[in-house]
Amino acid sequence: MASPAIRIGHGYDLHRLEEPPPAGQGRPFVLGGLAFEHGRGPVGHSDGDALLHAVTDAILGGLGLDDIGQLFPDSDPRWDGADSKIFLEEACRLMRSMGYEIANLDATVILERPKIGPHKTALRTTLAGLLEVEADRVNLKGKTHEKVDAVGEGRAIEVHVVVLLESTSEDSRNR
Ligand code: MG
Repeated sequence: MASPAIRIGHGYDLHRLEEPPPAGQGRPFVLGGLAFEHGRGPVGHSDGDALLHAVTDAILGGLGLDDIGQLFPDSDPRWDGADSKIFLEEACRLMRSMGYEIANLDATVILERPKIGPHKTALRTTLAGLLEVEADRVNLKGKTHEKVDAVGEGRAIEVHVVVLLESTSEDSRNR
């Protein structure tokens, strides 16, 4: 059966935010591959980049493949402190090998601090660069959690992503 012309993918991630050692287990705060100055950072086996993890899972999900935790298990010492761009690059490689490209991607980042509003353009441009698409195919929204629950109390970051993949084969485009 021919592969579909378009596929939709959804990704979600959450990381606890803690102070750096010895007070907590927080790593330096990194989001979308960018470093932010903040007193807390994500707890994670890799660098804890919740945005790149959610984008990676959205792409893998759209392709119907194993998720990020299956491809890069947190029991594997190779991924200890790993730059999450590695995970996204692999998802993009798989996407292209299966004949798909990003049509568009929409991300919602939920956290209290640091405020990402002033960094939206940089995040969007950086993410588009990693995905090798024009910036107008990537959108990003920042929200707070209205001081409610762990995210609202600044103890976690949460990211939701939806992505539309389109087939690069002439066949499915002409159907
Ligand atoms: Mg994660």
